[in-house]
Amino acid sequence: EVTEKGQLLDKARNLGVKFIRLQFTDILGVMKNVAITIEQLDKALDGELMFDGSSIHGFARIEESDMYLRPDLKSFAMFPWRPREGGVARLICDVYNPDGSPFAGDPRYVLKKVLAEAAEMGYSMQVGPELEFFMFQIDQDGNPTLDTHDDAGYFDLAPVDLGENARRSMVLTLEEMGFEIEASHHEVAPGQHEIDFKYSDALDVADKIMTFKMVVRSTAQRHGLHATFMPKPVFGINGSGMHMNQSLFKDGRNAFYDPSTPDQLSDVAKYYIGGLMKHARSMAAVTNPTVNSYKRLVPGYEAPVYVAWSGRNRSPLIRIPAKRGNSTRIELRNPDPACNPYLAIAVALKAGLDGIKNKIQPPPPTDMNIYHMTAEQRDEMNISSLPASLLEALDELSKNNVIKSVLEPHVYEKFIEAKRHEWDSYRVQVHPWEVSEYLTKF
Ligand code: GLU
Ligand code: MG
Ligand code: MG
Repeated sequence: EVTEKGQLLDKARNLGVKFIRLQFTDILGVMKNVAITIEQLDKALDGELMFDGSSIHGFARIEESDMYLRPDLKSFAMFPWRPREGGVARLICDVYNPDGSPFAGDPRYVLKKVLAEAAEMGYSMQVGPELEFFMFQIDQDGNPTLDTHDDAGYFDLAPVDLGENARRSMVLTLEEMGFEIEASHHEVAPGQHEIDFKYSDALDVADKIMTFKMVVRSTAQRHGLHATFMPKPVFGINGSGMHMNQSLFKDGRNAFYDPSTPDQLSDVAKYYIGGLMKHARSMAAVTNPTVNSYKRLVPGYEAPVYVAWSGRNRSPLIRIPAKRGNSTRIELRNPDPACNPYLAIAVALKAGLDGIKNKIQPPPPTDMNIYHMTAEQRDEMNISSLPASLLEALDELSKNNVIKSVLEPHVYEKFIEAKRHEWDSYRVQVHPWEVSEYLTKF
């Protein structure tokens, strides 16, 4: 691991790097690149490289458009799919204002702030994400279709699966870029895949999620396929989630583990669950940020719909996997891979910390299948639902000062503005469902 500027310059030269991509993420979770050559690297490492922030959505106003990128040396990685000679590497950057202060619209900064708040309480956060995605065929004109040509199901090893080669190549590329891959398999739906990598520090994982999506998309493309992290590309089959396994560590120990309780979960774990459940409806706009996200959060497709937790079944929002000791963790199941990972992890951690600070007790776990309960039974047990639409989620977020405080006015305002616009542009459309439902009926 490289920690010094001189070391990094040497390493880049020895590896024959010619181009370096300086990467950062915008508020909506889209990765941005500024490409430089090895000759400019020295200057870039001093954080002296300027770019025009006004050209990037939600970044800056015209009058304050000069931004500086400060590369995180630890993030140096080669793109293994590019030629070795005149190679390409990347560095993930923090964004700064011309006066040297961190830029409030940088999602990485938003996450760092909540991590600092956790650190003040003595905690560090580990996250293990499970990203699901689809791979579709590309038509003769080069446009993606919804065609998978694959009849494989969960864990199938069928040779008919054309995505199999692409996925193997993704795993190898990710490993070359420093990922430790724990599992990789076909998911339930045709054309759907999952690749899991080892849990790590929250910030490192957010960076890795961005890299992961880039590698998956570009590898699929080289195999003549289109990979998508759209949460629900096809009606009637499973959508793609990004389950977030979370744990807090204090003094080198897992703070969620307590061998002396019946379920071996500590009070801290319970309060963290209480916080997640309290804020889940308001966090949804961040963890499930698109119109399409809410097409996934419906009964029948292994995605959560109700705000409940369980040690066993998979229908609730929160599941506690069986592992204990240092592997004790809380799995939050509603996030989807269209989210901005920095912001999603930041709001989840904030919700959990709020639970710990205010000793928020979660309701008792629900070990019944909630999908089979009637609305009355759910009411009796105080089980609420996740928002049914992006609009509902945005309204919930606007009412929650704890979650809003994570985003601060800058990110919050830009985010809400973009998302309200997204909702409105969807709302005014006439969808095929409406035509087939009403055209002949009325
Ligand atoms: N694809 C499911 C979802 O939308 C999750 C399936 C699983 O449990 O891995 O969340
Ligand atoms: Mg899965
Ligand atoms: Mg899972």
